[in-house]
Amino acid sequence: MTGRIAGKTALITGAASGIGLGCAYRLAEEGANVMLTDIQVDEGEAAAAYINEIGGNARFLSHDVTSEEQWEAAIAATCEAFGSLDILVNNAGIGIAASIIEMSLADWQRQQAINLDGVFLGLKHGIRQMKDNGGGSIINISSVAGLKGSATLAAYCATKGGVRLLTKGVALECAANRWNIRVNSVHPGIIDTPIWTKVANPGLLSDGANTIDPDELAANGAPTGRAGKPLDIANGVLFLACDESSYMTGSELVIDAGLSA
Ligand code: NAP
Repeated sequence: MTGRIAGKTALITGAASGIGLGCAYRLAEEGANVMLTDIQVDEGEAAAAYINEIGGNARFLSHDVTSEEQWEAAIAATCEAFGSLDILVNNAGIGIAASIIEMSLADWQRQQAINLDGVFLGLKHGIRQMKDNGGGSIINISSVAGLKGSATLAAYCATKGGVRLLTKGVALECAANRWNIRVNSVHPGIIDTPIWTKVANPGLLSDGANTIDPDELAANGAPTGRAGKPLDIANGVLFLACDESSYMTGSELVIDAGLSA
């Protein structure tokens, strides 16, 4: 295999859909062995099979990022399949939109558990492994909502702002310990993925349907007027994964068509 990350091994969470799936394709295209993980099993298995069909090297594992036990199993399975863990993309996430005076504690906690606890667990167990195999690169998917507030998305903003500063703190710890592990965050703007069909946000919708059209949202909200594609984010993730970014750690890579400018 040739490519910018040939022979490296990447674990990508939430890889059955959207941005995670785009990252799996792009990292595989550049020569990495990819372990796709997700709670969507059929879609994840189909994605891994497709990558293998087109000449890549992929596996899929059912993995809920809120479970510490499943994190340990996912990292062990990755090392068993491919021999090491060099790149970790903490991507799995959900968006629950609601007014802060309407949001249930259960929804607040579910979103925190997936978007923030899941990243914490990935960092904890990913770094333990990477330390032992000579280093690596960890990319945490935050959001523009981790840089600025958004009405009715305050709870989501709290998780993504948490990911942003968790990234910086852990990057400094890795640097201070000379673990040779870089940790950076990526901040997507409005990207056309299935997440927009799952954001429960009746207050923003005229017909009450649980779907938001990202093109419409971007036409009105993004400075360039268009929604991004998963590949726009995957290219940034690839850059942070490979040695071209070797002097970057604790950084935030904003890929948002100027939304936060
Ligand atoms: P997506 O298409 O919904 O993909 C996310 C994947 O993660 C789905 O397959 C989802 O499964 C899975 N997932 C949910 N809970 C999980 C859990 N507990 N453990 C493992 N996997 C789980 O969303 P996306 O747009 O690609 O989002 C990927 C990341 O980018 C998220 O962190 C999101 O917050 C961030 N982001 C997205 C945008 C955007 O505009 N799309 C912008 C900024 C940031 P289910 O379908 O069953 O939930």
